Amino acid sequence: MQLIPIRDWGWTIRPDEHILVAGPCSAETEEQTLASCLGAAQQGAHILRAGIWKPRTRPDAFPGVGEEALPWIVEAGRTAGKPVTIEVASARHVELALKAGVDILWIGARSTANPFTVQEIADVLRGVDVPVLIKNPVNPDLDLWIGALERIAMSGISRLGAIFRGFSVYKPGIYRNAPMWELPIELRRQLPSLDILVDPSHITGNRSLIGYIAQHAIDLDFNGFMIETHIHPESAWSDAAQQLTPVDLGRTLAGLVHRRPSVDDPEFLANLEALRYDIDNLDQEIIRSLGQRMEVSREIGYFKRDNEVTILQMNRWSNIYESRVQTAIRAGLSETFARDLIQAIHNESIRQQGGVMQSDPGLINQVSSAVPDREVS
Ligand code: PEP
Ligand code: MN
Repeated sequence: MQLIPIRDWGWTIRPDEHILVAGPCSAETEEQTLASCLGAAQQGAHILRAGIWKPRTRPDAFPGVGEEALPWIVEAGRTAGKPVTIEVASARHVELALKAGVDILWIGARSTANPFTVQEIADVLRGVDVPVLIKNPVNPDLDLWIGALERIAMSGISRLGAIFRGFSVYKPGIYRNAPMWELPIELRRQLPSLDILVDPSHITGNRSLIGYIAQHAIDLDFNGFMIETHIHPESAWSDAAQQLTPVDLGRTLAGLVHRRPSVDDPEFLANLEALRYDIDNLDQEIIRSLGQRMEVSREIGYFKRDNEVTILQMNRWSNIYESRVQTAIRAGLSETFARDLIQAIHNESIRQQGGVMQSDPGLINQVSSAVPDREVS
């Protein structure tokens, strides 16, 4: 998939700037849309957003003004001299948006999760040259996200970008939508020409955390942000807790440190090189140690097989699991990583011993690697 970077979509974005899409969650009134968009533009937004049709979880929530609000956002964009984007969730939305002069379409998280919807949008976009931004699906399924990008790309759209807005959870903790950064990082690895924006508003659900997530997005080298901006956030008709006033948007942006993925200062590069050398050696050592550990595991496997003893002895596993986790925590690892690591090592050990015990090690390896790692504990 060869894609055109957002900077080359036809609107001015300086190479040293992070791309900023901003504007209200929903267009509520003509005045609120205009004031929110102009405020966002004044604070440096390159693209203005507003929801016209809102995908609400419960039927009693504000569903968006609908078609009537289309000229409001288009007019706000013309007044600010910026392109505008709205969410589309059906072929009809696309047709109405294009007819009204919307510059960029975005596909929301709930729609990305539904291949029927994405295909319907892809079909109506065939032969139309409009840029499209695709949010991640609500569930953490990278293939579903890539599938949506592929469906739209296959209609001939090459001005295509992605937006990371986190993933739905049953009980939100500090974040409204869990930011599992490894997914957009893997998306970038698989599709290097795809620009990825981060939506701190929907990740956090809380305006006080937006700067923190935006900074993390910069530090992970994402290309920019979508940030909900409302002239009066407290009285917003949707997502009131997560929207910023234009002034707070400006303050948040001013507080960000624009770190770069690389620099050419020779001293910095030499020091980095030295530290990376250490990391490379340590990684080699870790892998070698794990290989040795599995060799011992296999030896134990033969020993158990010859003595007709089961692979798993729950007592031993329960005892060592907690104590290994504690050792890892004492060594400076986070508890989550410590638990994942010890379980992964144990699961691999079980796989190796399964291979030793059964006559067809290939089969057992396939069967046990089909079992999600976390089930064994
Ligand atoms: C939105 O951007 O207002 C929105 C509904 O987002 P999402 O699709 O990420 O929930
Ligand atoms: Mn919203």
